[in-house]
Amino acid sequence: MAQIQMLDPATINKIAAGEVIERPASIVKELVENAIDAGASTITVDIRDGGISYLRVTDNGAGIAADQVEIAFLRHSTSKIERAEDLQTISSLGFRGEALASIAAVARVEILTRRAEDMTGVRYVIEGGRPQILEEIACPAGTTLRVENLFFNTPARKKFLKKPAAEAAYITDFCQKMALGHPEISFKYMRGGGTPILHTPGNNQLKNCVFAVFGKEMLSQLLSLEETGEISIDGYISKPELTRANRSYENYFLNGRYIKSQVIEKALEEAYKDYVVPGTYPVTILHIRMDPQVLDVNVHPTKMEVRFSAEEQVREAVFEAVSRKLRESNLTASLHIEP
Ligand code: ADP
Ligand code: MG
Repeated sequence: MAQIQMLDPATINKIAAGEVIERPASIVKELVENAIDAGASTITVDIRDGGISYLRVTDNGAGIAADQVEIAFLRHSTSKIERAEDLQTISSLGFRGEALASIAAVARVEILTRRAEDMTGVRYVIEGGRPQILEEIACPAGTTLRVENLFFNTPARKKFLKKPAAEAAYITDFCQKMALGHPEISFKYMRGGGTPILHTPGNNQLKNCVFAVFGKEMLSQLLSLEETGEISIDGYISKPELTRANRSYENYFLNGRYIKSQVIEKALEEAYKDYVVPGTYPVTILHIRMDPQVLDVNVHPTKMEVRFSAEEQVREAVFEAVSRKLRESNLTASLHIEP
């Protein structure tokens, strides 16, 4: 056996990147979440080759102070929490301070950032964990991150990537979910520049986002739902005539965060049970909101399946809201048919 020794930071980052950065879509997720945490009202995502050779995320959020840019790329550096207790009241999407360090460990990353209050911004280039360029430049307020040559220094991981079209599909899916989850943000998503394939207005109207993602036809087959209370639920659910062969159209967001939850899934399907053929699934875009204090969400950075303490209350609220809406609409429909 060789000597036991501490790994150097570059190696640690490279290994750790394996946990957070699985594919281009994981990078887009981290960068878009950072943009949201920075209070952006517009976010643009542009990719080439499924994000493998190039991806860019631009936001108009808070930006990073010139003297903090390098720090942001260090492992476990975050502005979002200061101590473990802060986790109990956390409202940001990130807090681990791992994303930028991990991405920079396995790709070439260029950041342009400027705070609105600063005259000039900063351009910082870091490649495979090694800083290359740090300079003052003129740039718009907000932050742009360009990520190129993903996994150039970890060929084994690069081999596990799918074809660009398949990688692009993951990113499209993610951007659609983000757009549905954040009607207050204008999302623009492009492949190789040019005309966006997804563009939402950011006017806080979920309807516009559903239209942008699913189109007019689908929107016309959805019922809008709005329930207030300790747990508020609003959004859209499909009329029983509109079903899908799998669950991928069941979207729900908990306090704006896209999640997967078997508890919510069950509540939805239970409510639809008497209306749809077994093995078919509804289309839903539901925003569930409740006091984050009682939520206690346990989130792993790469996992969307979450567990939370108020699961039973949420299950009941979703079941009740959806059941009621379906009953109402069923009643209206039968009144139309029977004169
Ligand atoms: P985390 O999001 O967990 O804090 P990251 O590695 O993703 O960790 O980012 C590190 C820090 O860099 C963040 O805490 C934030 O202060 C800053 N940062 C990253 N992206 C942006 C952005 N788009 N706009 C403003 N600040 C950012
Ligand atoms: Mg982050």
